[in-house]
Amino acid sequence: MRNSPITSTVPYDKDGVHHGFLRLPHSRNDSAWGSLMIPISVIRNGTGPTALLTGANHGDEYEGPVALQNLALHLTVSDISGRVIIVPAFNYPAFRAGSRNSPIDDGNMNRVFPGNPSGTVTEKIADYFMRTLVPMSNVVVDIHSGGKSLEFLPFAAAHVLADKDQQAACVAAMRAFNAPYSMLLLEIDNTGMYDTAVEDQGKVFVSSELGGGGTTTAKTVSIAKKGIRNVLIHAGILKAEPDVGTSVNLDTPDGDCFVFSNHDGLIEPTVDLGSFVDEGDVLSRVWPLDRTGINPIEYRARRQGMLAGRHFPGLVKAGDFMAVIAITDE
Ligand SMILES: [Zn+2]
Repeated sequence: MRNSPITSTVPYDKDGVHHGFLRLPHSRNDSAWGSLMIPISVIRNGTGPTALLTGANHGDEYEGPVALQNLALHLTVSDISGRVIIVPAFNYPAFRAGSRNSPIDDGNMNRVFPGNPSGTVTEKIADYFMRTLVPMSNVVVDIHSGGKSLEFLPFAAAHVLADKDQQAACVAAMRAFNAPYSMLLLEIDNTGMYDTAVEDQGKVFVSSELGGGGTTTAKTVSIAKKGIRNVLIHAGILKAEPDVGTSVNLDTPDGDCFVFSNHDGLIEPTVDLGSFVDEGDVLSRVWPLDRTGINPIEYRARRQGMLAGRHFPGLVKAGDFMAVIAITDE
């Protein structure tokens, strides 16, 4: 396989705080010999574990970029032992456009792994992570939120894995993150996901869903900041005391947790995030868009649990995700 076209302007193996770019040549109409300049910070102090921290894997999810801008500015060499690699905007073209996917190639970063050094811009970035950054890392944190189309209870997540020792290490890191909710996720379709690519390399991996709607709140940003610090402490990199509060365990054991729309329409929510529902309870009504005097379609919970995520915009289309009901041990 050819070498990655991406070069880093910062060293990975020199002590110090280094701010720079991943430079990806991108010839285009307005810049024939131009490059994409993806911001990166590397903070290193001696040998020790490496953490790889990313936000904006999807370009319209902002808790990660905000928390990581803060960390990159304030983290000092004397704070750590080991190395912290910070990329606040993983899908940088998408982040700049405020969109989930890249405006260059419509690439969804979390569906193109393992990437391709000869492929699209999004595939080239994925390939660089796959073959350069992830292999040099021990613990990997990828901060997601709902983006413009989804909203979630703020949770950190670990996956059900075939290797139970690795799963236990990921769950321990997720608990260390200490979001208000901790989710054990069974991915329904993990093809091309960064998560799976990282886990397949045997790494400790934590992701999150912290809010949504294409914006942030003071609360969700503080959850991201705290969680990242806690994982760095847990990994033995950051020398500090963890900030630990309560966290409710969530689980989505099967497909009955997920509700999808069969209709185009106007959503009337009947329960809010964090509410408990019984099997058969109405989650939302979908009203017709084009006439009055017609009953709405009722969407019901297919199992008992807590409403942990929902479709965010006021209008819904057939095939859209509507709701996820999670089991809790509360
Ligand atoms: Zn995402």
